[in-house]
Amino acid sequence: MCFVRIFFLLFFLLVSTGSFADPNRFFAASSEDELWSTLHEQFLLSEELVCQFDQAVKQGNTVESLLQGSKEHGLLYARLQAIRELEEELQSELESRLLLSFTIEDSNSGVPGMESWLRSRAEASRKKLGIRGKTFDFSLSRILQFAKNFDQERGFGLESLSAPLVLEEYRQWREGFRRQGGRASGVSRLRNKVNSLAIGIQESWAQGLQLEPSGFNPDLQIFPSSGQNGNITGSGFPMGSWSLTFDDGPGRLTPVVLSNLKTHGLKASFFVLTGQLEKSAEIASFSRQAVQDGHDVYSHSYQHLKIPKLSESEQRHEIEDALQVFESILGFRPDLFRLPYGAGVSNSMVRASLVKSCQVHVFWNVDTLDWQDRDPASIVNRAVAQMKTLGRGVILFHDIHHQSVIASEGLMAYLNAENLKTIRLSEFVESQNGGSKWGCKPAWSKSR
Ligand SMILES: [Zn+2]
Repeated sequence: MCFVRIFFLLFFLLVSTGSFADPNRFFAASSEDELWSTLHEQFLLSEELVCQFDQAVKQGNTVESLLQGSKEHGLLYARLQAIRELEEELQSELESRLLLSFTIEDSNSGVPGMESWLRSRAEASRKKLGIRGKTFDFSLSRILQFAKNFDQERGFGLESLSAPLVLEEYRQWREGFRRQGGRASGVSRLRNKVNSLAIGIQESWAQGLQLEPSGFNPDLQIFPSSGQNGNITGSGFPMGSWSLTFDDGPGRLTPVVLSNLKTHGLKASFFVLTGQLEKSAEIASFSRQAVQDGHDVYSHSYQHLKIPKLSESEQRHEIEDALQVFESILGFRPDLFRLPYGAGVSNSMVRASLVKSCQVHVFWNVDTLDWQDRDPASIVNRAVAQMKTLGRGVILFHDIHHQSVIASEGLMAYLNAENLKTIRLSEFVESQNGGSKWGCKPAWSKSR
């Protein structure tokens, strides 16, 4: 490859991965070794928090009771939100850097696929950092999935598609971890960062978390509003009704979820990223297929940023521009929206931005924690435990993780075996509003 091409490739990658654009990225200044090491810490600390969440659920808690309960309970859910945000940032930082170095190395020597290249690169860092044990391997599963997808898209490496992790090893490790109290060690730096972020998240919730009134109220009207009428959580569903929701797609795994839904005869609601719809015509076709199959498809913003951190014009881009491009690709303008991480649900400016775009927000009341938990069976157990306490609600999955695809299929089987009613979010809104649509026109000012 000639020098000019490499230069343009570098430039394109830097711009497209946002390396020039966003000076607020937490990990922008970290070395690659530091990133691998933080990824490992993130895995351990997330396991600790998931373990605490499971204990709270065992004691009869739900997302809602954690949010509205004691300070310590609120802080636990805020910590989970905080570490998930960090995990996403870390993942995208690693992805953009690895993509860059892989592309350069690959163009020079033609290495055999990103997955094996990535494994050897991470292994070299692990040795240098002196990290021992299986947990480092577990921490790699999501980034390895990214590499597999990359290989698949380039049409090679298919035969090397090994399991992202050996589930049995993970289960055994986790059992031991929990037996010993479920406390992560050697993660104090990340712990401090997560704690300070979580305090900020909890403070923002305290400012005005407008949850839907708990309990079914047939007279409650749903319409774009900064108050309770504009935020569905599932706690106001009729008893025995459940909505399956899938966030962050469409992606390579979405067709598997669609096929599972068909097999089980169920309908779901998808919250998709416009950035994903734009990736390729093939990826967008997965959402088109979802609509054809009778599922609901709504917006989950453009690029999954933390909306409360953005200026008004940036919020407009993430919400309104995302909707307009969504409409140009899928042919309709959706009317329900889910904020990335649910962040901003209690922020008046964010909620006002959603109203300006005629969107009703949808939170959840059953959290599967499928972004961290690699064990599908444990994800199903976590969902079922919360469902038994609640009796109705909105279940949160992400159709971008292997474990989520398997776990959601398990939950579909559970819903049918227990004869539970599954509704799309639009069915809930229609029945609350007596079939009428809210009249609403986007109210953003003309000037930028
Ligand atoms: Zn999301």
